[in-house]
Amino acid sequence: MIIAIDGPAASGKGTLAKRIAEHYGFDHLDTGLLYRAVARNVLQAQEDLNDAEVAARHAVELNPSALDETVLRGGGIGEAASIVAQFPQVREALFMFQRRFAAEREGSVVEGRDIGTVIFPKADIKLYITAHRSERAKRRYQELVDRDERTTEEQVYADLEKRDLRDQTRASSPLRIAEDALLLDTTELDIDASYFAAVRLIDTAIGRSG
Ligand code: C5P
Repeated sequence: MIIAIDGPAASGKGTLAKRIAEHYGFDHLDTGLLYRAVARNVLQAQEDLNDAEVAARHAVELNPSALDETVLRGGGIGEAASIVAQFPQVREALFMFQRRFAAEREGSVVEGRDIGTVIFPKADIKLYITAHRSERAKRRYQELVDRDERTTEEQVYADLEKRDLRDQTRASSPLRIAEDALLLDTTELDIDASYFAAVRLIDTAIGRSG
């Protein structure tokens, strides 16, 4: 079974995806880390993030099973990731790894931007998680402060606005809501409430409720 989870940055989908995977005993894949790792490798090699060929080479050379989440979650890397994620060659290079991840497992929860639309258009369950941008900015700001990164909530809001626009308007696999996705707006919900709401939606969809 494949549960595909999409949504904008800082919508809470990362934490939710992990908890949903745990709940059902499935494996979890955070595909944002793949794009983050490609961007980080381009930057580390002091090459040009805006060069599609350079980014594609790093995507082909990436070892997706050795990603350091703590480093890759840093503030600037999300922005850099959304630049390399625009290139179809980069997306293509990461496509098979994502497909294989689910093919090799009985159950998986895969999260990102194009999971229910492009990577697994036939996923058993598709969830689209969102929240108002001001709430997302508040959450991301707190995360960055907890990591001792210096920033302001206004800056985080502006960064999210830019990233949302880039992710939603790029030509290749833009972030959009799949027609058959279940929607969950977490603006007014804390993480526990979001988790219960998500499980309820999923259970209802797979006919396990009641
Ligand atoms: O989810 P996360 O914030 O870690 O993703 C970083 C960036 O990677 C996103 O802003 C997006 O541009 C890109 N991404 C993507 N497709 C995915 C996952 C992430 O384009 N499936």
